[in-house]
Amino acid sequence: MTDKSLPFDRDQLEAIAAQVPTPFHIYDEGAMRANARAFYEAFSWVPGGFKNFFAVKALPNPFVMEALKEEGLGGDCSSMGELVLCEAVGIKGEDIVFTSNDTPAYEYRKAAELGAIINLDDIRHITYLEEALGGTLPELLSFRYNPGPLKAGNAIIGKPEEAKYGFTREQLFEGYRMAQAKGVKRFGLHTMVASNELNPDYFVETAQMLFDLVVELNRELGITFEMLNLGGGIGIPYRPEDTAVDLKLVGEKIREAYEATIVANGLGPIKITMECGRMITGPYGYLVGRVLHRKSTYKEYIGLDACMANLMRPGMYGSYHHVSVPGREDAPKLVCDVTGSLCENNDKFAIDREIPTPEVGDLVVIHDSGAHGHSMGFNYNAKLRSAEVLWQGGDQWKVIRRAETLADHFATLDYPGLSG
Ligand SMILES: *Cc1c(COP(=O)(O)O)cnc(C)c1O
Repeated sequence: MTDKSLPFDRDQLEAIAAQVPTPFHIYDEGAMRANARAFYEAFSWVPGGFKNFFAVKALPNPFVMEALKEEGLGGDCSSMGELVLCEAVGIKGEDIVFTSNDTPAYEYRKAAELGAIINLDDIRHITYLEEALGGTLPELLSFRYNPGPLKAGNAIIGKPEEAKYGFTREQLFEGYRMAQAKGVKRFGLHTMVASNELNPDYFVETAQMLFDLVVELNRELGITFEMLNLGGGIGIPYRPEDTAVDLKLVGEKIREAYEATIVANGLGPIKITMECGRMITGPYGYLVGRVLHRKSTYKEYIGLDACMANLMRPGMYGSYHHVSVPGREDAPKLVCDVTGSLCENNDKFAIDREIPTPEVGDLVVIHDSGAHGHSMGFNYNAKLRSAEVLWQGGDQWKVIRRAETLADHFATLDYPGLSG
């Protein structure tokens, strides 16, 4: 079970909304930092050190990335824009992991220029990278492993053998052999087999799988691995009945596996890394909108000034996001669909959901928008992307991204009456 009460009340939100028109996303900085610390604490035992590379795509805002950097997090990038964001924030060198797929050469060049850890998605990219970098490979290289039928998948990524990512087991052995022959000196191993997974055992099994592989690869090829990357994918309790992953427990169980496999085989110390995004910021973000209309036809509808362009997870994956109506906690309940204004019937934040009956003009809060929320936004129907606010407790907050204007939206069109 997870407590879905809000860290701020209606008056606090109305005070912000008086200056930042709804809709906007608001992020609780203190809670994000506390969570990052607890995560590191759970892995403080790792003899080679622990690091989480924050998956930039979850919340690509430099103000948030800066706070996370202060907590010791690096950046996990998979595109030019994400690399440039890290560079701007001062995340560099091996504090960046570049885990892309179907990657263009110029992105590899940028990653290499920043000194990022390059994590290849495919065996053919060994020579592609070599050519992109003018005939040399980086000293350190990591490969993404896709265990295929050897591991069961989960809902968002799907079955590993259907997923486009990573090397097969055979390719992994061949790839490391090739890299050794081409002069690579330092090695990493990566996998990411789940997304939004709440079962703690899943991460322990993933770690065990990589530990076993490290032992085998060491035996077969004599490679001493420097770092393992267990990927991201730690889920968050979107529903009140969900329970957050017990990080302490996961850390403890991974420690047992590490000792029984890595230490027992005389290997290590190995740095353990992850690249979680959702679990770092997701629960600490809220999409705040206002009720524009109530509609009563075959169903009851509560229409907001926010829409799927601000948060597409419910429309795209059918995801649950909790809905609160601050200040109406004691109002009679209403079963309704909470909708946006797109000409798209899946533009619904909630379907047949029981919420306290809101009045037109009330603020409505959609929970857990802190990861894969604003960043997945889009401009369909010429809807504008919203502002982002960083809340620092009490009446302390700042706008960390202003809302788009129509001028921003039309900026790439050279057409009379639209551009500047
Ligand atoms: C998306 C992604 C992540 C982050 O996933 P979360 O579910 O946000 O933790 C990490 N690594 C890779 C390679 C990804 O594609």
